[in-house]
Amino acid sequence: MILRSLRKQTLLASLFCLICSFGLSAKTYQLRLAETWPSKLPLLDDSVQRFAQMAEQMSGGRLQIKVDSANKHKAPLGIFDLVKSGQYDLGHSASYYYKGKVPNTLYFTTMPFGMTAMEQHAWYYYGGGQELMQEVYAPHGLLTFPGGNTGVQMGGWFREEITSVEDLQNLKMRIPGFAGELLAEVGATPVNIPPAELYMALERNTIDALEWVGPSMDLRMGFHKIAKFYYTGWHEPGSENMFLVNRAKFDTLPDDLQAILITAMRVTAFDMYVQATAMSTENWSQMREQFPDIQVRSFPPEVLVALKQANDALLAEHAANDPLAKRIIESQQQYLEKARAYTLISDYGYLETTKDL
Ligand code: CA
Repeated sequence: MILRSLRKQTLLASLFCLICSFGLSAKTYQLRLAETWPSKLPLLDDSVQRFAQMAEQMSGGRLQIKVDSANKHKAPLGIFDLVKSGQYDLGHSASYYYKGKVPNTLYFTTMPFGMTAMEQHAWYYYGGGQELMQEVYAPHGLLTFPGGNTGVQMGGWFREEITSVEDLQNLKMRIPGFAGELLAEVGATPVNIPPAELYMALERNTIDALEWVGPSMDLRMGFHKIAKFYYTGWHEPGSENMFLVNRAKFDTLPDDLQAILITAMRVTAFDMYVQATAMSTENWSQMREQFPDIQVRSFPPEVLVALKQANDALLAEHAANDPLAKRIIESQQQYLEKARAYTLISDYGYLETTKDL
């Protein structure tokens, strides 16, 4: 009798649990994401759209992520505030856009003469990079995660060849951020011009040179039709985008959905790098074929040495003024030194010894 009653109770309890868990698993969470990019922008918007689909599929529909492009929210460089204030739960942008607001955000996209995409991913995920990044964003109620890499960016399109530091004097170049500060240190005039006006600015000689991304994104901009010298990179060796997450909102999600979000962000970061490589491969092949006049050049050592000296002096200043900046800069420099020693005997060694075979 007691046994039968117990069985009945157990059965009822099991049924109740089933209903409970069914009820829990059926609950959907609607998240809103604001991205810096305009809608349909290849590579960048592509990646964010895939991230939203991936999270929805992996969660069996319990996570629904609505992506608003810059066309909708009208604040392409305001993603930090949109997510911090909770107007949006998630964001996709680049950390260095916010250096005017929080100076230490500068270090988490890419640094001149810094790590390549793969070296930097190793630093983020296994070398303490992500912990430092969280330390910068935590006071703002934000979590951050790597959001996809464009690979080594090209040094830009120039109308005239650069053969010395002299050639850089008063050269007007569109180059934003920290790299622009370095060029100013060696005598050039960096300017910032909205992307939509760049082609005309170059065509009408308002600027002498510009950098954008690399073949992946440059082909559609058409700069190669105007300026034929295409310089190899030094200033953005591995530009990483970022996901921003409103911490308070993240904490309301069940553990499995948090894990799904983190996994989808990590896959997206990797996949964007793969897509960037694929796009550059295709686009560079097309450019070379259609515009055989394009001349690939590298800055002469004299120019690179001057830029590197300006870089080291500015970073030393940052480190002296802010203990957290000092820790970040030292962590990056130490990791770069170790990672590069390996890159040189592996990827670079292979490429160098087999390139003429
Ligand atoms: Ca760029």
